[in-house]
Parts: sequence; C-alpha cells; structure tokens
Amino acid sequence: MHSDIKNRNTLQRKLVLETVRNMTNHPDAEMVYDEVSKINPMVSKATVYRNLKLLAKQGHILHIPIPDGADCFDFNCSPHYHIKCRKCSRVFDVDMPYQENLYQNIKNYRGFVIETHQIVFSGLCPDCK
Ligand SMILES: [Zn+2]
Ligand SMILES: [Zn+2]
Repeated sequence: MHSDIKNRNTLQRKLVLETVRNMTNHPDAEMVYDEVSKINPMVSKATVYRNLKLLAKQGHILHIPIPDGADCFDFNCSPHYHIKCRKCSRVFDVDMPYQENLYQNIKNYRGFVIETHQIVFSGLCPDCK
C-alpha cells in the first residue's frame, strides 16, 4: 500500500514536470493545473501546486516570482530575465545576459547572504502596445 502511494506521487510529479516542459509560455500554477487535468483529471490542484514548488526547489524548473500577479514557472532553468505585459499579463523572456556580479553593487548586505536574484520588467507586448 505504502509503495502504491509513493508510486502514484512519483507519477504525478513526472506528469507535472512534463507538462511544464511542454509549455513555453511561462505558465502560472493555474495554467499548469488546467493542462495536467486534461491528461489526468484525477490530479488535484493542491497536488499540482505542491509538485511545482518541489520541482522548482529541486532545480528541475524555474520559479519566477511575479511582483503583482501569480508566480510563473519556466522549463528553462538557466537564470534569465523576464518581461511581463501589464495589459495581457503574459510573461516573456528578455534577451539580456545574466548579471552574475550584480551583487557587487550592493553597499550594505545587512547580514544577508545573497544567493540569487530575479528581474521582471514590466511593459507592453507587441500585441498590446
Ligand atoms: Zn500584451
Ligand atoms: Zn523564461
């Protein structure tokens, strides 16, 4: 019984991962859930949310916190920047080198150890402008 549950969890996590890898539009959890439920309607929303968090933590997908909206996920795990259209809310990649040494500009770390950073630009996409 226990191994059945473990097996089911593994399959669900695999399904969530494959779904994100098939989506190139920086989906939020709701969008991932919609796609997952098309393939397996038995998978709950809570399961999708939990697995997205876990997969991001394990480095299989990229978690993009969006300041004024739902967090997004990206199959592309290499650090890169994004722009969000303030009209249609879609999130796109920005073609700009990752600023590895951005931290060096910080004058006072206030005791923090900085590990990573994200930049989300805001503006209008070509369809909306
Ligand atoms: Zn737009
Ligand atoms: Zn991206």
